Order: sequence, then C-alpha cells, then structure tokens
Amino acid sequence: REGVVVITGASSGLGLAAAKALAETGKWHVVMACRDFLKAAKAAKGAGMADGSYTIMHLDLASLDSVRQFVDNFRRAGMPLDSLVCNAAIYRPTARTPTFTADGYEMSVGVNHLGHFLLARLLLDDLQRSDYPSRRLIILGSITGNTNTLAGNIPPKAGLGDLRGLAGGLRSQNGSAMIDGSESFDGAKAYKDSKICNMLSMQELHRRYHEDTGVTFASLYPGCIATTGLFREHIPLFRLLFPPFQKFITKGFVSEAESGKRLAQVVSDPSLTKSGVYWSWNKDSASFENQLSQEASDPEKARKLWEISEKLVGLA
Ligand code: NDP
Repeated sequence: REGVVVITGASSGLGLAAAKALAETGKWHVVMACRDFLKAAKAAKGAGMADGSYTIMHLDLASLDSVRQFVDNFRRAGMPLDSLVCNAAIYRPTARTPTFTADGYEMSVGVNHLGHFLLARLLLDDLQRSDYPSRRLIILGSITGNTNTLAGNIPPKAGLGDLRGLAGGLRSQNGSAMIDGSESFDGAKAYKDSKICNMLSMQELHRRYHEDTGVTFASLYPGCIATTGLFREHIPLFRLLFPPFQKFITKGFVSEAESGKRLAQVVSDPSLTKSGVYWSWNKDSASFENQLSQEASDPEKARKLWEISEKLVGLA
C-alpha cells in the first residue's frame, strides 16, 4: 500500500516542496496539516499536486485544543500513520514584544516546540500501530540553534539556560516569555531556542521510544532556503539581500525544490533509517550525519525540557 505522511505547515516553503516531492512518487499520500485551509488548497493546486494524492486537514499549532482536535479528525478519517513531519514554524526576528498562543505561551516556542511536542506524543501511538516497514517521526532542526557552527554564532545566540522561564510558563505578565528567564524579549533568540527544543525533543524521543517501538526519530538541517515565507517578518532590506548573500557568499543557499527533496529523503529513503540522527547535506547534496552543539545534544537538558513540556501541554 502507499504510505501516509502527515506534514505540518505544508502550505508553503519546505513543507509544500516536500509534500509535492512525496506525492509525485505515487508511493505517498500526504496529509497537509495547515492552519489556513484555503491557502493550503491553493498552494497544493499551484504546485501541481494531483487530486487524490493529498488531504488537507486543519491544524493550528498555536492552540493545544486544535492539536487534540487534529488528532481526533485524523483518526476518524481512518488512515494509518506511517510518517510524521513536524515542519511548521514561525520566526519573528525583529519582534521586541512577545505574542502568545491560545494557551498563553510565547508564540515561537508555543508553535514551534510545544504544539509539536503534544502532536508528536499523541501521534506516536498511531505510528506504533502502523504496519509500514519503516515508520518515522521527523522534527525540523536548524543550524541557527547550533552554536558549534558559524551561523549559530551570529547574535543573539541560542541558549536555554536552566529553563526557568519555560518552567514558569513563558508568560510575560508574571515571569518571562523567554525560556532562559531573561527579562527582555528577543524574537530572533526565541526562534533559535525553539529549534534547540526541537532537536533535544527528537533525541529524547529516540532515547525513550526507539528500542521499544522501532520508530525512527530524526532531525535535519535542510540548508538555507532563503526564499521561504519564514523570513516574511524580517526588514525589507534583509529580505532583498539574504538570498544573494546565501547564494554567492556563504554558498549555503538551497532552492525550495531541493530542500523538499532532502526532507522527502528523510521520510522515505531506505538508507536513512538510523534513529537519533541530525541529517545535513554537503555541497554535492549528499546526506551525512551531522554533529549537534553541546547544548543541543545535552541529555540532562533534554530530560528536563521533556518534563516541563509535558506539564505545559497537559500530559503530566
Ligand atoms: P515557511 O514560513 O515558508 O513555512 C512555515 C509553515 O508553518 C507555513 O506553512 C505556515 O503556515 C506554518 N505555520 C506557522 N504557524 C503555524 C501554526 N500556528 N499552525 C500551523 N502551521 C503554522 O517557512 P520554511 O518552509 O522556511 O520553514 C519550514 C521549517 O524549516 C521550519 O521548521 C524552519 O525552522 C525550518 N528551517 C528553515 C530554514 C530556511 O532557511 N528557511 C533553515 C532551517 C530550518 P501559513 O502558510 O499559514 O503561514
């Protein structure tokens, strides 16, 4: 049978490109889990995805109720789940004041980490029930959270500290909207911190569940896809200069189509079944197992993050 993959945030950028790449193989049915149904429908048509190769389902990661409802709707649709891709993200690089999810958590960490954390935990049961030969749970990481890279050293640097802000509920009214508990809000850092959470969560899932379930847990840095909507809130000059800068100076630029193929590989390539890996690609577009920074691979921090996140999403 064809595999079924759920991709969050498949209405643009990397998620859409991966949805298209997988649907085109004829071996995958793609469930596009998106907050804006119409936008997703237009995007799928615009990308030339064949009718019947995908289903769009509503998911707003800024609401834990919506995450639970998505899981109910998906189960009611009666499809198996063979692969889950936690791809959606928001990035508010110039924001100096926080915004909040329906549950009152700072938006970048709420959407990118907490919403996906709940989704992954709930859908792990479905992945376990699947009879597909290689079941995978993938969470998008990024170079920017990795302080062992050049890009990861551009200020403000990521850093979760002792997680006191997260433990306090990431609310600015009576605490901090930043994970490390800093008083001032920095949107760029909040995004990078959320990506560290993504990479730590993948590894903790691997430690807790890989042996018992056989599910492959993976993360990846798909390259710098400088043209996606992720940079929509950046200043206009940045948006103008960032793509050529990445193309000609850092040479880290990848097209949306190429990044989509990379993510599709992590979903379906028979040679990428190893669990607990953070994949990257070299200049010849060959995949390799990359090293994470010390913080992004700290098992003690991953455990603490897991326990606090469980409380915040109502699993503990
Ligand atoms: P885009 O902004 O193009 O896509 C992000 C997607 O997330 C959109 O579909 C967006 O929906 C969706 N989304 C945002 N908020 C929510 C929400 N509350 N609920 C549900 N969906 C939501 O960005 P990219 O394609 O570039 O990013 C995809 C992933 O790749 C991210 O995890 C990012 O961190 C990662 N990444 C990107 C890099 C890059 O260079 N672009 C580099 C490294 C990693 P909508 O269309 O409705 O806005």
